[in-house]
Amino acid sequence: AKSAAGRRRVRFFEPQAQEVVRRYLNLHADLLRALERGEFVLHYQPQVDGSGRVRGAEALIRWQHPEEGLVGPAEFIPVAERSGLIIGVGEWVLDSACRQLAQWAALPTSCDWVVALNVSARQFAQADFVDQVRNALLRSGAPARQLKLELTEGLLVDDIDDAVLRMNALRQMGVGLALDDFGTGYSSLRYLKRLPLSQVKIDQSFVRDMLNNGNDVAIIRSILSLGESFGLEVIAEGVETADQHAFLQELGCAAFQGYLFGRPQPAAGLTSLSPNGI
Ligand code: C2E
Ligand code: MG
Ligand code: MG
Ligand code: MG
Repeated sequence: AKSAAGRRRVRFFEPQAQEVVRRYLNLHADLLRALERGEFVLHYQPQVDGSGRVRGAEALIRWQHPEEGLVGPAEFIPVAERSGLIIGVGEWVLDSACRQLAQWAALPTSCDWVVALNVSARQFAQADFVDQVRNALLRSGAPARQLKLELTEGLLVDDIDDAVLRMNALRQMGVGLALDDFGTGYSSLRYLKRLPLSQVKIDQSFVRDMLNNGNDVAIIRSILSLGESFGLEVIAEGVETADQHAFLQELGCAAFQGYLFGRPQPAAGLTSLSPNGI
């Protein structure tokens, strides 16, 4: 039981807490409606190789809000995660990205782009997640080898054995697996060797400051050398300037993503960069 003083303190903060809850419930209701009305869109950001050629794209969700305009994922993904709505949103992302991939793969010059999409913890934890991926591939006709899922460390630590089983099942289907925001979580090295990954993504926070922070350069160097030892591709995120790009190339990085090469944009904008340049 709370003391009288404790109760008074709680009551003192109540109006604010209610306001937070009210906003949360409103946003939840809005997101549910958005899903039903088809207000989510995927933008695609190019990923390029050492010679600057587009090799694929990361799908990034946006909410085309009827009044507010285009709303970024930072504004609603955390709420969708807490409320469980991320399950429905995540299925939509999976389906939508697979359909887009199928379209690109069907271009006359058989475009071999890899489409990457972000998977949230609750989505990955569903018992039938691997089946969802398999079904999305079947429904769309998208080639599994051109699909990549971006996972974060936080999503793997809960039950690492189970995570490894799922990851193996996905890799057996041909689906690629990237570890997103690498270097920002904990204990990476302890389990990195157990994870059947195809790629690690250097978090953009290291790239942002690399030109004037030796520690960030040291971290990037070690991620690149880890990648080499484990046979993983390493891609640098958040590359904004030619100087960052040149330095990363000097360090041996051979895959890049960032505003320097292209902003996240509607799929049509990328299609014009495809091998046959439609
Ligand atoms: P992320 O997966 O690490 O995605 C990279 C973020 O960096 C994107 O932000 C992208 O627009 C941004 N970015 C790319 N290049 C640059 C650059 O050169 N400079 C800077 N400053 N930023 C750059 P965005 O689109 O706002 O997405 C933020 C996060 O939201 C993503 O981080 C991801 O964690 C999450 N997210 C996005 N789409 C989805 C989705 O479909 N499902 C789930 N579960 N999460 C998503
Ligand atoms: Mg990502
Ligand atoms: Mg990232
Ligand atoms: Mg992130």
